[in-house]
Amino acid sequence: MNDTNAGERIYELCGKIFPICRSLMGEGVRLTLGILDEYIADTGYHLNITEIPTGTQVYDWTVPKEWVIRDAYIEDEERNRVIDFKDNNLHVMGYSAPVDEWMDLSEMGGCLYTQPDQPELIPYVTSYYKERFGFCMSENQRRNLKPGKYHLYVDSDLKDGNLTYADLVIKGKLDKEVLITTYICHPSMANDICSGMSLLSELIRYVAALKERRYTYRFVFEPETIGAIAYISQHYDELRENVVAAFNLSCVGDDRTYSMVESPYADTYSDRVLKNVLASRNKVDVYSYLERGSDERQYAAAGIDIPMVCFCRSKFGKFPEYHTSADNMSLVNPAGFQGSFDVMTEAIQVLEHNGKYRAKVFCEPQLGKRGLYPTISQKGQYDEVRLLCDFAAYANGKNDLITISEYLHKSAYELLVAIRMLGDNGLIERVE
Ligand code: ZN
Repeated sequence: MNDTNAGERIYELCGKIFPICRSLMGEGVRLTLGILDEYIADTGYHLNITEIPTGTQVYDWTVPKEWVIRDAYIEDEERNRVIDFKDNNLHVMGYSAPVDEWMDLSEMGGCLYTQPDQPELIPYVTSYYKERFGFCMSENQRRNLKPGKYHLYVDSDLKDGNLTYADLVIKGKLDKEVLITTYICHPSMANDICSGMSLLSELIRYVAALKERRYTYRFVFEPETIGAIAYISQHYDELRENVVAAFNLSCVGDDRTYSMVESPYADTYSDRVLKNVLASRNKVDVYSYLERGSDERQYAAAGIDIPMVCFCRSKFGKFPEYHTSADNMSLVNPAGFQGSFDVMTEAIQVLEHNGKYRAKVFCEPQLGKRGLYPTISQKGQYDEVRLLCDFAAYANGKNDLITISEYLHKSAYELLVAIRMLGDNGLIERVE
């Protein structure tokens, strides 16, 4: 039976980290990781923080400078602030260079960003790898700017610093690992960033509390793209050696649909497990690797070949609030988080129990003498009995749990109760 309060807790954590102004690197990321570390503190585990200096080469990329943002605004000639970073941290372009200049509105086009097809929303815009300054505002705000001169002010630094990532490994019986990742590099966006970090933190608590763990679990919080590339470059051998299944979490806090992005050939163990879990949900959208966009791009890249899929509720890029000021706390909700928590914990349970099973008695087991058969014989009471018999019938020592679930048209997670009852009564055994 799943923890039905998890959605509320994850939502609350999401609300706590939402206001922080994060970026690719810098204090916002460190502050956020500190809050997440506090959230898991009573498990006895801690996030392991790694800092990689500016200028470090990671595969084809170079770690950029760290961005420090203190203030940003545009004011008119009467010194009214028409745009203010303090109202919404999306108003300044991520990694904006400093500026302190008066400009005529007619010259400002190149440094103002709006989303004309969504005139009320502020777009999220960054320029990590080319130095420029910029402001983001709604199209309506821009249309309301009167002709005249404006003071453009960004108080920021681009300085040598560090790229920060955090990981945590929780040991199981086997060295073989389940890897779960998410990204940490956007400012105030609820679904596209805060949701993944919050769910991953709750999953750490869940895994830490498991009485038995077959697998070792590795959790990674990293800036998207370059952070994933940096993590892979520093852990390539152990990841390749040990990871049996891997999931990237992105946009997991709304409640409109369930989505996944498959691995490049849709043929990994992770594809199999997540599809099995999602098959019992009402609305599911499956996207091919051609529609990748988050850190599955790096882990599943040719030559890296970590068996990763991406799990989302509404997929990044597919919901109207994506990368705008409307991706806020009203887009995510406890029910959405609960659904995501249930999917991921079911996936973990399926992974833990997906072995090959063999029946230990010939022909049908006699369930009655073991108290597994209803004492009153009446139609309609056989579903559970039927499930036990069906599972035993396919437990030939060659089929794994997921294969049996496919034959039985039941989710693997639903069959766990049959495995437990049959196992407790000595009727089946796990052989692999
Ligand atoms: Zn994003």
